[in-house]
Amino acid sequence: MIKFLDLKSINAQFEMELKEAANRVIDSGWYLMGNELKEFESNYASFCGSKFCLGVANGLDALRLIFKAYIELGVMKPGDEVIVPANTYIASVLAISDNGLIPVFVEPDIDTYNLDISKILAVVTIKTKAVLTVHLYGQNSINEQLLQICKEKKMKLIEDAAQSHGAIWNNKVTGSIGDAAGHSFYPGKNLGALGDAGAVTTSDNVLAKTIEALRNYGSHKKYENLYQGLNSRLDEIQAAFLNVKLKYIQKDIEERRKVANYYLNNIINSKIVLPIVNNSEGHVWHVFVIRTKKREVLQKYLYDNGIQTLIHYPIPPYKQPAYKNYNGLTFPFTEQIHKEVLSLPISSVISNSKIKKVVKILNNYNG
Ligand SMILES: *Cc1c(COP(=O)(O)O)cnc(C)c1O
Repeated sequence: MIKFLDLKSINAQFEMELKEAANRVIDSGWYLMGNELKEFESNYASFCGSKFCLGVANGLDALRLIFKAYIELGVMKPGDEVIVPANTYIASVLAISDNGLIPVFVEPDIDTYNLDISKILAVVTIKTKAVLTVHLYGQNSINEQLLQICKEKKMKLIEDAAQSHGAIWNNKVTGSIGDAAGHSFYPGKNLGALGDAGAVTTSDNVLAKTIEALRNYGSHKKYENLYQGLNSRLDEIQAAFLNVKLKYIQKDIEERRKVANYYLNNIINSKIVLPIVNNSEGHVWHVFVIRTKKREVLQKYLYDNGIQTLIHYPIPPYKQPAYKNYNGLTFPFTEQIHKEVLSLPISSVISNSKIKKVVKILNNYNG
């Protein structure tokens, strides 16, 4: 079976260094908010080109904390609206509603699966305080027009960069383009910890200071609490692992691009729609997503031929039982996407023979 993602092989590349990092933390006797975290925050801020990076417990918390901080700072208040792509992973929406803000769903572009920027202005009201754009599947979702709209309408531009570590637009790395960004280092993400981890990046000093307190019970100073915060810290051991893996992220991206380009150039089948790439450095291929009309048939065909695939994602957030009030909404492109998408195996360690096999089997498909 060709696995969708072989995390064990991915981390085996760095086995010695990861074990050294773990030993260093174990021997230090210091497990939270120490030097490993400081070093990672500094390394990751420079990787993104942001002034500040704050390590937090996971990607969902990174996004939650950005909205919470804006509320503490009086930039937003519960009941305000946040624009979000209708086809995103549910965590983007949870971060909004968890803070008492109202998600306003907008259709994605059917080619890039990212927010259709031409549809934003139609839903902006006086209550709209932010756009949460998602660099879905690893592809940058920002352009000049989006920056312009956010500026004109005085909306914060927040990036969900959970899938896009290292994707570049206009000489800037995603996570440094908007006002603030949430990153996830969930093990399966391109930059993955060996457990949960996340970060906020921003160049806004006041926002950074607020989030720094909010992630630690709302405290700037031990036993003094400015805010009603969370406990959302990034463990030293995960920071130490991330310091190792960050050194190799560029190589990981290049390997993923090779696989993606091979798929793009060699999958030839009228039943399959390939991803559309705006510019090659803007995509880091967290997942390689194709579309097809009879998705379940294709998925079974691939499985029967020894190829494991996943669906990102089968149900849109507004159709989930968790969002009952929104279940009546309809977004034709979003629903088409959720019905038709299928993610092929891709990673920095998948062998050439496996990629060739995937292509050959896909090209023979006529379901
Ligand atoms: C993974 C992911 C998140 C959440 O990150 P966690 O670390 O799993 O909490 C948020 N948004 C998107 C788009 C993601 O893919």
